[in-house]
Amino acid sequence: MTNLSFHACYPNRHVRTSSDLLTSQGKYIASVTYEVEKSDEDWRRQLEPDRYAVLRKAATEAPFTGSLLHVDANGVFSCAGCGQHLFTSAQKFDSGTGWPSFDACEPGTIIEREDRSLFRRRTEILCSRCGGHLGHVFDDGPTPTGLRYCVNSLAIEFDVEET
Ligand SMILES: [Zn+2]
Repeated sequence: MTNLSFHACYPNRHVRTSSDLLTSQGKYIASVTYEVEKSDEDWRRQLEPDRYAVLRKAATEAPFTGSLLHVDANGVFSCAGCGQHLFTSAQKFDSGTGWPSFDACEPGTIIEREDRSLFRRRTEILCSRCGGHLGHVFDDGPTPTGLRYCVNSLAIEFDVEET
C-alpha cells in the first residue's frame, strides 16, 4: 500500500443515512440483507479469484494495476458481482492515485460504511444490491461534488455505450 498520504485524509462529513442504518444493524456484510444474496461458496465459484478477493474479502488491488484506470470511453461501470450500474464515464476523473476515481455515483447504488481497518478511519463503499466491496469514498474530490469514489478495477466492469 503506497499512497498513505492520500488515505490519511479523514472525511469530516458525517456518515450518511445508509451508513447509520448499517451501523444500527451491525457492521458486517453478513448481517445485512441484500437483493442479491449468495453463499461464500457460490461467490467463490462465480468470481475469478482476484475479483473474489476484492468484492467479498475487501482486498485492495495494487495502485496503477487496474485495467479500468485509463478507460475514458463513454459508457457505464457496473458491479462485477451483480451487474448493477454504479457509475458512468461522465463521473470518472483522473485522481492520480492509481485507482479509477469518480466524483458521483448513480443514485441509490452505493452503501457507505465506516472502515476502521489499518488504523485509519475511512468510509468503505459497497454495492447496494449485493454488498460487494468496491473501495472507499473520500471528501477531497476536485470537482463541485467534493467527493472522490476510489474504486478497484477488479470490482467493476465497463461497457462501452453504443452510439
Ligand atoms: Zn453488486
